[in-house]
Amino acid sequence: MRCPFCASPSTSVVDSRSSEPDDAVRRRRQCAGCGNRFTTYERVEIPPVTVLKRDGTRERFDRQKLLRGLGRAANKRPVSDEQLERLADSIAAELRGQGTEAGAEKIGELALRGLASLDPVTAIQFASVYRRFEDLDDLEAEVARLKRQAGVPSETRSTIPSPRATVRGHGQGNKRRGHAEQP
Ligand SMILES: [Zn+2]
Repeated sequence: MRCPFCASPSTSVVDSRSSEPDDAVRRRRQCAGCGNRFTTYERVEIPPVTVLKRDGTRERFDRQKLLRGLGRAANKRPVSDEQLERLADSIAAELRGQGTEAGAEKIGELALRGLASLDPVTAIQFASVYRRFEDLDDLEAEVARLKRQAGVPSETRSTIPSPRATVRGHGQGNKRRGHAEQP
């Protein structure tokens, strides 16, 4: 790496850290010739993965969208954000390893398998919604709808029609239960 100030080829790295949003590695370098410091970013160059949806259309694989889908399935479950981040990364890596195009169904299967190893209930929640839909767009819309239905302040079970909600019900009880527990 040449110094951008004096073009000297002798520069050295004085600090190195990964920058979160895009997996880039940020390096502070110092020139041995003129002493100036500058920053470089190092990224892996990888072709984007295209998702082939069941309706035949294509879209770019969106790790954030996948992560949101995973996060919603894991709502109130003992699965950490970090575990979900790692799962999203491993799914992204697996897709990349298999080429530049992946079926939406394949992504769903990878997500299911990964979630099953973390928490079977989360996997079931994911499957119960995902399996009925074309892709994550539909899943997001459906989950948003369920949340609106279930999101009313009272958690009375009879107002929640989804069978999924009864599964989620096991996880509740930490809050808003005080009045119910009075003798
Ligand atoms: Zn220099």
